[in-house]
Amino acid sequence: MSQPVLDVSDVDKNFGGLRALSNINLQIKQGTTHAIIGPNGAGKSTLLNVCIGRLPPDRGAVIFNSDVITGRQPHEINQMGVVRVFQTPAIFPDLSVKQNVMLPAFAKRDGAFRLNMMQAVADQRQLESEAEHWLEDVGLLSHQHQLVGSLSRGDKRRLELAMGLIQKPRLLLLDEPTAGMSRHDTNTTIELLKKIKLRGMTEVIIEHDMHVVFSLADRISVLAQGQIIAEGTPEEIRGNPKVQEAYLGG
Ligand code: ADP
Ligand code: MG
Repeated sequence: MSQPVLDVSDVDKNFGGLRALSNINLQIKQGTTHAIIGPNGAGKSTLLNVCIGRLPPDRGAVIFNSDVITGRQPHEINQMGVVRVFQTPAIFPDLSVKQNVMLPAFAKRDGAFRLNMMQAVADQRQLESEAEHWLEDVGLLSHQHQLVGSLSRGDKRRLELAMGLIQKPRLLLLDEPTAGMSRHDTNTTIELLKKIKLRGMTEVIIEHDMHVVFSLADRISVLAQGQIIAEGTPEEIRGNPKVQEAYLGG
């Protein structure tokens, strides 16, 4: 079997006396979409935060493409290609759609001052055309000059996705991409994520909406009270009595 893109190994995470994650083992293969489902408070967001370096685990390791990333800073892990989209407060409502998309790419550039004016102008043009490319990709190009504060909820999600994609992620982490969306916006988001998946992107998606999960996931892990109680293909998970129980009992 090929090396997994992400390998979570024996991870524990406690908050005081609360064991939020207990002996988590998870391998995500290149080019697959892996959904993490489970009741509220199961530890899903905590697991994602451990993966992106926001929370240090109490035990265990996270390995990304053979590099141990446990203990690294979130921005280092991000630079390595692990990109989380949604649930980010990173949108600037008073800037335009295009300016927002340019921000993450701009932040990724080295901090060296551009003393050469021509170079600075060329850089700016390059960044703008990259931003336009990703806005077109998510279907927002016609909104590029609009202020972000005036976008619909669904369009904001598209924008956040473009802001993730411009960073050229090797692993995309999505925490509840369709939370609070209308059915129409949910379906549009599903189609968009399907398109990205078809290009071979590796994705981890946390999601409550089973329609979204079953539309996108190659494999599903079920988290309950900090433990993975089941893992398998969508068909295996659908028929698993332990999963039914965790949801009904949760
Ligand atoms: P989920 O995303 O599955 O709903 P979370 O990972 O957010 O679950 O939370 C798992 C458990 O850890 C919950 O009981 C939650 O209250 C607790 N928790 C999460 N973050 C913190 C924190 N920063 N400090 C203390 N407890 C936390
Ligand atoms: Mg959560």
